[in-house]
Amino acid sequence: MSESLENKRILPLQFVKGVGPRRAEALAKEGIVEYIDAVLRVPRGYVERSAVKSIAEVQRNAGRHHDSPMSELTELVVTAETSIVAEVTDVEERTVGRNRKMLVVMVTDPTRESLELIYWNRIPYFKKYFEVGAIYEISGTPSYEGRRNTVSFTHPEVEKITTEDLELYQQGAILPKYSLTQGMRNVGINSRLLHSIAMQVLPEVEAELRETLPDSIRAKHRLMNLPTAVQELHNPTSIHNISVAQYRMKFEELFYFELMLATRHNSRQNPERGLKFNSQSARARTLVDNLKFTLTKAQRRVINEIVSDLSSGLPMNRLLQGDVGSGKTIVALLCMLCAIDNGYQTTIMVPTEILAEQHANTIKALVAGLDVKVVELTGGQRKSLRNEIKSEIASGEAQIIVGTHALFEADIEYHKLGLIVIDEQHRFGVAQRSLLKGLGVRSHQDDVRSPHILVMSATPIPRTLSMTLYGDLDVSIIDELPANRKPIRTSVVFESSLSNIHQFIREEVQLGRQAFVVYPLVEKSEKMELKSAVEHHKILQELTFPDLKVGLLHGQMLWYEKEDAMRAFLNKEYDVMVATTVVEVGIDIANASVMLIENAERFGLSQLHQLRGRVGRGADQSYCFLATKDHFRYQISKSNTSEDGAKAATRLKTMAETNDGFKIAEVDLALRGPGDMMGTRQSGLPDFQFANLVTDVPIIITAREEAFGMVANDPKLAQTEHRAVREKLISYFDTSSFYSVA
Ligand code: ADP
Ligand code: MG
Repeated sequence: MSESLENKRILPLQFVKGVGPRRAEALAKEGIVEYIDAVLRVPRGYVERSAVKSIAEVQRNAGRHHDSPMSELTELVVTAETSIVAEVTDVEERTVGRNRKMLVVMVTDPTRESLELIYWNRIPYFKKYFEVGAIYEISGTPSYEGRRNTVSFTHPEVEKITTEDLELYQQGAILPKYSLTQGMRNVGINSRLLHSIAMQVLPEVEAELRETLPDSIRAKHRLMNLPTAVQELHNPTSIHNISVAQYRMKFEELFYFELMLATRHNSRQNPERGLKFNSQSARARTLVDNLKFTLTKAQRRVINEIVSDLSSGLPMNRLLQGDVGSGKTIVALLCMLCAIDNGYQTTIMVPTEILAEQHANTIKALVAGLDVKVVELTGGQRKSLRNEIKSEIASGEAQIIVGTHALFEADIEYHKLGLIVIDEQHRFGVAQRSLLKGLGVRSHQDDVRSPHILVMSATPIPRTLSMTLYGDLDVSIIDELPANRKPIRTSVVFESSLSNIHQFIREEVQLGRQAFVVYPLVEKSEKMELKSAVEHHKILQELTFPDLKVGLLHGQMLWYEKEDAMRAFLNKEYDVMVATTVVEVGIDIANASVMLIENAERFGLSQLHQLRGRVGRGADQSYCFLATKDHFRYQISKSNTSEDGAKAATRLKTMAETNDGFKIAEVDLALRGPGDMMGTRQSGLPDFQFANLVTDVPIIITAREEAFGMVANDPKLAQTEHRAVREKLISYFDTSSFYSVA
């Protein structure tokens, strides 16, 4: 649409009292176009006397955790949002350093204490916005600065409270707070106006707020009906009713999401034909009998789950989750041997060439004597070698193909590909999985059959999240480590005491062990990564460990250089390996017992956990040191402490406290939210408006039971009482295609 046309469009909301064309345009930019949009944009929170804190209280709470510098690291938790209602007493622009500007707004309340609101951005706007003597509702995360003994909010959410509203508030009324963007604020849209719009148009959209949830489900879970819930959210009659209304909205959102997964799961059952394997495998049996260790109970359980899929006749789509070191490779291999005994080819796809090499070597050693042909296919191979491997694959001679992305290039002809294993699946997208699957289907020629797919992940995802995310995958979990493992001892260390750690590394080396020293990618640029790893390597080798042999591994090395370096480390030609995050994934050096991570505050939680997983693979006690700057100790007490600083401290603390990947994943999820953690766009997870995947687990479970139950009884949602559900499902997720499958 051209701009002039767009400007001329008639927006329904412009005729609502208090709006007009300019504001309607600003609302439209935020997706609020129709009446129903305004009604469904419910408040983000409520101001009510019992929920608001006094400034005196905020100060007491903020100061409490800060008696000693170390307690900041050990006691820090992610602070919840705090709301206050206060009067502005002063607005002052200051210059810090040479030319950085900041705006400091002093506020006070009836406790006669005061605190500061601090702004670094959009200073001219806020300078005009705050009026001395006016009352504001302020919410954000308070931070405490010890030196000046002051509490402040940095860039809090603020909303001016009118005299009318103030009176209502003082009488105990509940004031709704709506989310406002800068674009809305610029044209004078405030919470009060959004509330008034919603209340004006609500009667007009009653037909659109038709109830779709069946009475039986509503009665069973005591769900408030939809029009009442919406009314309560905009115009609450009590705090209790707000939570009842919110429960209903969350339930509905999760119910339809689960319903979509349920219909998808259901539709998959019919059309695709799978390969039916005989579950008895002589080669797998021989391998199990010859292993130097016994399989854990969890490994045996997941093997049974997988083998029962393989012999069911339906194509398997299974996610195998297990913490680093839980022994997923052997599980995959045993299942691959089952496929091979049934006359099929298998592939295992990994994200890096080093890992492909290591897997190929591990697998070759394990299947020695079993008459299995293992080949390796990676992007870095010479053309003649690649052609040779390609023909071994096409003829069916190759039975296990270990490879990288090279596996799903279009020119590869597989031969009766029966099982696809994808390791470290978080490195691959859904699209890549389906490319490989397509090649697998093609390899059965006229007999159209889908290969079995097993994806493996060492990033444990909280169970409920994997349920919601991978609703169309079945999930198996290895929740037990082999018995010979000693938990890795982890501690946070500060840079001023790094020499102690270096001494510790030297002692471990004298005992015959090896160590990793990992640096973060300082800049996104690959050149910078190179520089930092190379420089650190030089310093460590020449100044810190002149008596030891120090190797180097970074992402800019060619694949064979990386392999050479890793092989040399494996052969103990190096005592210490300086590396960037390229060592993060799957490499196994059983003799390495120390992992020192520098600038640990810069790494994500699951990344830290993966890195730590590179040690502790042998029987020796292993150690992980998370080194961070000394000033980080104090960082979170500074007035301009970012939320990021607080989160980094929580990550380090969590690592020091637990080795449990599932617990770590829970914290990671709470810190980052499911979108960032999983890469939302790739995972296909919608942005939920009401539901919170971290805190609403019980609702997820209930909604899922109801949704899957409904589809089990009425797969096409054809029953009269499900008609409304069906229509809503189609409009929610545009899933009409699910119904045209049969
Ligand atoms: P991950 O699940 O992280 O991929 P691996 O499959 O690489 O873990 O296994 C890690 C190490 O543990 C390997 O050296 C493997 O041989 C060993 N391992 C696997 N299962 C067991 C077991 N049941 N008992 C002892 N060691 C095992
Ligand atoms: Mg692995």
